[in-house]
Amino acid sequence: MQNYSIASLIRHGLNKHTGWSRAWRSPPIKDSYDVIVIGAGGHGLATAYHLAKEHGITNVAVLERGWLGGGNIARNTVTIRSNYMRDASIPFYVKSVEMYENLTRALNFNLMHSKRTMVDVVQTYPKMRELRRRQLTMDIYGSTYEQISEPELRRRIPALTGGGPNSRLPIIGGMVHTDAGVNRHDAVAWGYARAIDSMGVEIHQQTAVQSLMRNSNGAIEGVETNRGTIRAKKVAVAVSGHTTTLTETAGLTLPLRTMNLTAFVSEPIKPLVDVVVNCPDSGFYFSQSDKGELVIGGAPDPGQSFRRDIKQHVFEDTVTAMLSLFPSFKKLKLMRQWGGHLDIAHDASPIMDETDVSGLFITAGWWGGYKAIPAGGLTLAHLIATGQRHPLMAQFSLDRFRHLDYIMESGTTTAR
Ligand SMILES: Cc1cc2nc3c(=O)[nH]c(=O)nc-3n(C[C@H](O)[C@H](O)[C@H](O)COP(=O)(O)OP(=O)(O)OC[C@H]3O[C@@H](n4cnc5c(N)ncnc54)[C@H](O)[C@@H]3O)c2cc1C
Repeated sequence: MQNYSIASLIRHGLNKHTGWSRAWRSPPIKDSYDVIVIGAGGHGLATAYHLAKEHGITNVAVLERGWLGGGNIARNTVTIRSNYMRDASIPFYVKSVEMYENLTRALNFNLMHSKRTMVDVVQTYPKMRELRRRQLTMDIYGSTYEQISEPELRRRIPALTGGGPNSRLPIIGGMVHTDAGVNRHDAVAWGYARAIDSMGVEIHQQTAVQSLMRNSNGAIEGVETNRGTIRAKKVAVAVSGHTTTLTETAGLTLPLRTMNLTAFVSEPIKPLVDVVVNCPDSGFYFSQSDKGELVIGGAPDPGQSFRRDIKQHVFEDTVTAMLSLFPSFKKLKLMRQWGGHLDIAHDASPIMDETDVSGLFITAGWWGGYKAIPAGGLTLAHLIATGQRHPLMAQFSLDRFRHLDYIMESGTTTAR
């Protein structure tokens, strides 16, 4: 892998940037591999990365029906945090946040990682109680959460001028999560892709898996794609909102539902807010990008949906909530809006497991799965390579639905 550094930038600059080699190849597709990973989003690429890096498994194909990083990894609002509720979740997300902080160096690719703190604006006592409860569990696992007063909240976010004592939902205080950050999502996909390619893993874009193939014993034996049959004894499904459409082709039904989540960005403005602002009672959040745009998201549309655009009523609800707390934003022009998918399990926690089909692995149920990419890749690769569950994801199993042993994280996202 060619090294990216200031020295190489200067050297190539002197040659008018004509000497760079391609960041990843497009090799011919083979008939079989040791492992097939379906989906070149964050989780698929990170899984391939750890298979190659930690376990030396490089005869791997990552199959992507569109283009690399064109799925939800490119559609999310890049909030990275570890303020969860349950013992099963917090250490996993703490690890993922830590891994993100070192990923630029590990991948030799500038992810523009910016650790910038998330501030929750709290408007109801039930929410405050819930966040205080989270704080106590997070303390045990070394994740940061601190309560602040309303005046301190307004000092930290000067644009927060709504939510006064006479408003419908007055602000009662805030919570501060200093571990939170943001980075650049395209760079995460490209960084992983470049690294896995250099270790021999193949990425095949425009290769849609149409169905999963099982042998006469019921185990996985490969996939049917628009480019023909490809065999492997281990297949990992990392397709985000499309998990169930694929697993159903192998006769598996899963406790997952796909929902639409949307976001929009404003025109670029001068630096206004240096934290990620989350308003869980009102149902919206935002941060300011390095270009100056406000990147704004709302709550998911609760109905089952595969749409990738924004629903007008969700958009209006989010904007209305935002203007009630940030009235000065009414002057902002909005530049772009879009949607993506979340596949959500009943308890809003992920599922990473080998399924009842031997050799078929899934990583799914990622409600806020961007923050989980590094630890998700690390732990799923461990399971695929060793057959043992990594301790960090031990409870994110399918079995929990058989025993009703849920990891309830509903409400710890920007959810209703
Ligand atoms: C608007 C929005 C905002 C969000 N904000 C945040 C946030 O702030 N923080 C956070 O942590 N998370 C956030 N998320 C969630 C996060 O984006 C997802 O949980 C995460 O990206 C999912 O994992 P992934 O990157 O692997 O998915 P994807 O990037 O969607 O990867 C799956 C890939 O599989 C491919 N694929 C699908 N079917 C097939 C097939 N049959 N054959 C081959 N390939 C296939 C797709 O084309 C896609 O490239 C947000 C999501 C949305 C939509």
